[in-house]
Amino acid sequence: MKSKITLIAPLVAMTAILLLPLLPIPAFWITLLSYVGLYSIVGLGLVLLTGVAGMTSFGQAAFVGIGAYATAYLTTHYGLSPWIGLLAGLLLTGGSAIVIGSFTMRLSGHYLPLSTIAWGLSLYFLFGNLESLGKYDGIGGVPSISLFDFEFSSGRSMYVLIWIAVILALLSVQNFLNSRPGRAVRALKFGYVMPEAMGVNTPWIKIVIFAYAAMLAGVSGWLYAHLQHAVNPTPFGLKYGIDYLLMVVVGGAGFVWGAILGAGVITILGNFLQAWLPGLLGASGNFEVIAFGVLLVLFLQYANEGLWPFIQAFCAEKFGIQPSARAPEQAVALPQKTKPAKGEVILDVQDARKQFGGLVAVNDVSFSVKAGEIVGLIGPNGAGKSTTFNLLTGVLPATSGRVDYRGQSIAGLSSRQIVQRGVARTFQHVRLVPGMSVLENVAIGAHLRGDFAAQGGVLASILRLNKKEEGKLLHEAARQLERVGLSDLMYRPAGSLALGQQRILEIARALCCDPALLLLDEPAAGLRYKEKQALSELLKKLRSEGMAVLLVEHDMDFVMQLTDHIVVMEFGTKIAEGTPAQIQVHPAVLEAYLGGVE
Ligand code: ADP
Ligand code: MG
Repeated sequence: MKSKITLIAPLVAMTAILLLPLLPIPAFWITLLSYVGLYSIVGLGLVLLTGVAGMTSFGQAAFVGIGAYATAYLTTHYGLSPWIGLLAGLLLTGGSAIVIGSFTMRLSGHYLPLSTIAWGLSLYFLFGNLESLGKYDGIGGVPSISLFDFEFSSGRSMYVLIWIAVILALLSVQNFLNSRPGRAVRALKFGYVMPEAMGVNTPWIKIVIFAYAAMLAGVSGWLYAHLQHAVNPTPFGLKYGIDYLLMVVVGGAGFVWGAILGAGVITILGNFLQAWLPGLLGASGNFEVIAFGVLLVLFLQYANEGLWPFIQAFCAEKFGIQPSARAPEQAVALPQKTKPAKGEVILDVQDARKQFGGLVAVNDVSFSVKAGEIVGLIGPNGAGKSTTFNLLTGVLPATSGRVDYRGQSIAGLSSRQIVQRGVARTFQHVRLVPGMSVLENVAIGAHLRGDFAAQGGVLASILRLNKKEEGKLLHEAARQLERVGLSDLMYRPAGSLALGQQRILEIARALCCDPALLLLDEPAAGLRYKEKQALSELLKKLRSEGMAVLLVEHDMDFVMQLTDHIVVMEFGTKIAEGTPAQIQVHPAVLEAYLGGVE
């Protein structure tokens, strides 16, 4: 019953929006709402790019411009069909985004937003200075779109076309976000180390969503050109780029419906402020710009998630909306790699070394881990344990030394190549997507095991051709959660879990990678006694199944009762190695831990 409401409510809303022009609504409102639709399409791209993936762009208006000019030019100069104009616009926006993106997506921090300002400005001046594009006067006489015998010449018919486009764009973005590549994108905002460690090609996926957002902007530009029947550079300048950002911030940059809400609020508010403010203040001028500036600051300060979460919370209370991704009861099992026999050497580290300038964080350390064995890596703070982990997982390149996994060198490979071979890890500082459900977080671990993993699967996700893949991935995630004893919390947001449970979640996620070697960085930190016992039982079970486990841990009792073999490091150097019993009485270890008490 409840889930039916969540399905039907958006359908009713969409139908109502499309049927609106049948009512005797003044043309003014139809036009205004058409613009809300146009801005929503751009906003949906920004939700993906900025709200979800954390890459701020001030340059989306320029892509709207490319889409608008492409169709305006082709339809007026060559008399081509607007549909060819659309195709050209999509190719041009997508293509230019790939080119611009391959240069700028590597930038970090404030440099990326700054670069979006740069390209926004340069494209604007390009439109304004090209003779063939009519310079600052632009291009007039753009024909109407027609489909079969119907011509979208009236404002009301364009309204319907625009809102059909909004709905399709919304569905495409929503489908994408609820997919294997979409979950990877949702993880980007929280850093690239975790997604890379789960096998996500982050540079590639960033360019993909950049092009996706640009193409949505291009569609908006196409509709705009045929609604206005004319284009000029003004609406594609930086001011509009900032306005688009304002809309999604106000509506809720992290939510697809936030794009539509924000476009509606800002467009309608802007229209009335523009009419009222000059009268109110007794002077003429664009005072709404100031009002919007204030609004932006207020939102960033007090409601940086925008308006949508409030509406969502209200709806959740009223209708009890549940997270969308559910694990199916039954699904075909994901393919698994052949596992090594117990006792086979899985990891062999020879003279691994890492220097940070003059500091030798890992000093020619050697050890090995066999299948069906738990090896502990211990040592005081700053001993180089996490750095060793980072060498093994490709986060940091080793200065020298050899790291072999199942007889093959993995030194110099990237994180995502290493996890593909079967080395999965957890993090000392938990890295998960707090707003996403536990189930979906764990499913990120299976990123490389989906049906469409080889092709990327972006198009399949957008078109919802990935239902089987989703079923398998979510089923696998649920199975691993069952295995670690977290299935009760499957549909809770990961951020709402206690720290200990979040660590267990990370283990389930690592198990989803189908590993033969698990690297756990301080898995027992922050766990209560009972939870430590449960973790210990889990690791013993994995060991008995033939898993090789290397763990860094501070809790000595935990390490001593669990591990088969211990490697002790101090100041980057291996000072001892042996069974727990041997380590407990090892003079060098006692020296390091107890500071030379004899
Ligand atoms: P542990 O995990 O055993 O506590 P780490 O491996 O985190 O120790 O650190 C080992 C040493 O390397 C410390 O002295 C630390 O300050 C240094 N170190 C770790 N990462 C970096 C880095 N990225 N740059 C410079 N020094 C680092
Ligand atoms: Mg550490």
